[in-house]
Amino acid sequence: MSLTNGRYEIGGVDALSIVDQFEAPLYVYDSATMKRQYKRMAEAFKQVKRLRINYACKALTNLNVLRIFRELGSGLDTVSIQEVQLGLMAGFDPHDILFTPNCVSLDEVEEAAAKGVRLNIDNISILEQFGAKHPDTPVCIRINPHIMAGGNSKISVGHIDSKFGISIHQVPHVLKVVKALGITVEGLHMHTGSDIYDAEVFLRAVEILLNAAGDFPDLDYLDFGSGFKVPYKPGGIATDIEDLGEKLSARFNEFCGEYGRELELMFEPGKFLVSESGHFLVRTNVVKTTTASVFAGVDSGLNHLIRPMFYDAHHEITNVSNPDGKPRIYSIVGYICETDTFGVNRQLAEVREGDILAMANAGAYSFMMASNYNSRYRPAEVLVYEGQAHLIRERETMEDLLRGQVAIPSLERKEITA
Ligand SMILES: *Cc1c(COP(=O)(O)O)cnc(C)c1O
Repeated sequence: MSLTNGRYEIGGVDALSIVDQFEAPLYVYDSATMKRQYKRMAEAFKQVKRLRINYACKALTNLNVLRIFRELGSGLDTVSIQEVQLGLMAGFDPHDILFTPNCVSLDEVEEAAAKGVRLNIDNISILEQFGAKHPDTPVCIRINPHIMAGGNSKISVGHIDSKFGISIHQVPHVLKVVKALGITVEGLHMHTGSDIYDAEVFLRAVEILLNAAGDFPDLDYLDFGSGFKVPYKPGGIATDIEDLGEKLSARFNEFCGEYGRELELMFEPGKFLVSESGHFLVRTNVVKTTTASVFAGVDSGLNHLIRPMFYDAHHEITNVSNPDGKPRIYSIVGYICETDTFGVNRQLAEVREGDILAMANAGAYSFMMASNYNSRYRPAEVLVYEGQAHLIRERETMEDLLRGQVAIPSLERKEITA
């Protein structure tokens, strides 16, 4: 979002005019930011001959967003059969989709295999069962390198007690299963889930995977997952992707030399590609002064954007409709009957009832985690594409809330008896 001549713009389109057209609360994404981030990552690893970026689409799966990434040449990382289906609907070649689920049934893995997507296996039980039935289908193995960087256990999935991946210490067991069943392992994968603050820490995990790769002679690719962090505050900490790109590319190329084959280097960023593209626009319902705080109560809550409450995530908040207002301190809260605080003690340009507030970094894991709690409708989504704001998902209605509900006829007809 940029301030041009006293007006906030998203992708060059006036933010308030988007709200006038599509109403609040509203998710607005800028496709130019997605493209910028994709190109930036591709550029950072340009020294690698075979690079593939698989957009981790659980961050934001609107079909239009998937099509943007397909057009950029991206592959797709998927975690459910439904995401696989969405990817195919958006026109991705099955071979460009990697299926990386966790704790799903053998049936679901077989369903994905039948669609021709690449499979990433995350436990030895499924490896044995799937391999016994389909020894000719090559697979990727998800390894847990047990690197724990960063302290948030809700997002760190590479530590010792994590449910994700097959422990690096179980590689000898994997090798026995693979050999006994004649399985081809075409890829090795890791995704620690930790934020990459420091290229050196990440390279330690990479080194663990490379060390294991020597035991697998049929590899075609190595997938180092994600963890690419974008700033959430002005000047906030972020992954130095150019630095990481330079160091990791050099090490990867060196490894390919040792291995004797030009392997494909894969990543699967979600947040890095879409977080900054999104703003969540809400309207202020009430400004309420209590003995201790001034609350700005908005027409949304944890039903629409749960990250501040679920992860303690920081989302910058800007008063879009009063850019010249005097700075004051507010707690920005939702309308849900829970404590749903978007931000505490934030300095905003004076907020008046009716003002539109924008929450930044609302592209990844924002709309996707929205719910109907308190029987509220999920918001609409808008994508700015080629300089124009397009509605890409309608706001829900009462029909959506009722869809799938089935009445018991005898109960529906009952009179009040008490
Ligand atoms: C969620 C997920 C990602 C994307 O993580 P980001 O932090 O959004 O980049 C990548 N790989 C796997 C397996 C995931 O589950």
